[in-house]
Amino acid sequence: MTASSSRRDFYHLGRAAEIEGRAGGNGGANGRTGRDGPPLTIEVPVGTVVMEEAEDGETVVLADLVEPGSVLLLARGGVGGKGNTGFATSTNQTPVLAEAGAAGESRAVVFELRLGSDIALFGAPNAGKSALLAALTNARPQVADYPFTTVDPVHGVLDLGDRDVLLLELPALAEGASAGYGLGSRHLRHAERALALAYVVDGAAGNVVEAYRAVRREAAAYGKGLTGKPALVIVTKADLPEAAAGLEEALRSLRRASRVHVVGVSAATGVGLEELRRELSSLAPPRERRRGRPEHTEAPPLRARANRAVVTVRGGVFEVSSPRAERIMPMVDVKNWRARLQLHAELGRLGVLDALEKQGVRTGDTVRIGGAELLWE
Ligand code: GDP
Ligand code: MG
Repeated sequence: MTASSSRRDFYHLGRAAEIEGRAGGNGGANGRTGRDGPPLTIEVPVGTVVMEEAEDGETVVLADLVEPGSVLLLARGGVGGKGNTGFATSTNQTPVLAEAGAAGESRAVVFELRLGSDIALFGAPNAGKSALLAALTNARPQVADYPFTTVDPVHGVLDLGDRDVLLLELPALAEGASAGYGLGSRHLRHAERALALAYVVDGAAGNVVEAYRAVRREAAAYGKGLTGKPALVIVTKADLPEAAAGLEEALRSLRRASRVHVVGVSAATGVGLEELRRELSSLAPPRERRRGRPEHTEAPPLRARANRAVVTVRGGVFEVSSPRAERIMPMVDVKNWRARLQLHAELGRLGVLDALEKQGVRTGDTVRIGGAELLWE
């Protein structure tokens, strides 16, 4: 039997799940070979990372599906059972045995979506990220004067005339978000794919240097190289008196503390937005108009179950463990003497007879193979 796409289960991108290749069909009479397990395809969004926990507890990335149309073969379907002619030998030209289909591979995987962007905006709840995104781009995120209004990341396209810059608002980062409490942590992963980060600080909420340090600490605690990316600090709400008073002094001390460009803006009046567009444009240099090719990845095959026959005696019953024999048993018509004879020969070939004899099987003993019980003759 040749490997073809029909014997495989394909999964395009998805969610956390126990993924199992479908079982092959049973073999039958007249040489009928069982169908291989039919393919099953799951589609997931571009940017999905597929991970599996290895035996040593490490998380292994099976595929990072960033190109549209990429395919990951995750679990192979079961091979169909051999039909009766598959059991023909030189001395047995009328075989009546057949094989049940093999089970498909099964693996537990985690799917995680990491959105792409040029610049990720993050800052404390209420800092003014959504208002900024609405002022700069075509996006219309929810803007409200209470924290945590944006629960999902929001994309916005900044049109620079000759090119676009893709901005991504990450939902509020609360203190300690990177440790898993607060809303930010599960969204910080999206910043991993960003070219640059923009820290958004509320200009009307007191000490801007402290506010910046708190957000930056979140990024540092998350790790994954976030703080190594080019960055910019945006101080918002410059129109409010609380912000306007001492704004210049605040920007100066922020520049000293952050050592990156700092821009004071107001989404309400538009003050500073031109300067901000220039800064964002230089942070996100033109991406080469390269679109990668879709990739085809295959998860490593799961180790095949040992094909050796093992016999254990439990309560006087001889229990046979042999994957091949277990696949034949359910298909055997034990009332047919010819089938019994051929089964005996096949069990000999598979080493089951030897294993049984080593355990001292005798006429009249009960032998269990798969779900079936035989009275030993
Ligand atoms: P986010 O949680 O960081 O997305 O913050 P939002 O953009 O939702 O804004 C929080 C609050 O601040 C809302 O009430 C906005 O109207 C207000 N706000 C945001 N930007 C400005 C601004 O430039 N000027 C003024 N006066 N208010 C702003
Ligand atoms: Mg928001």
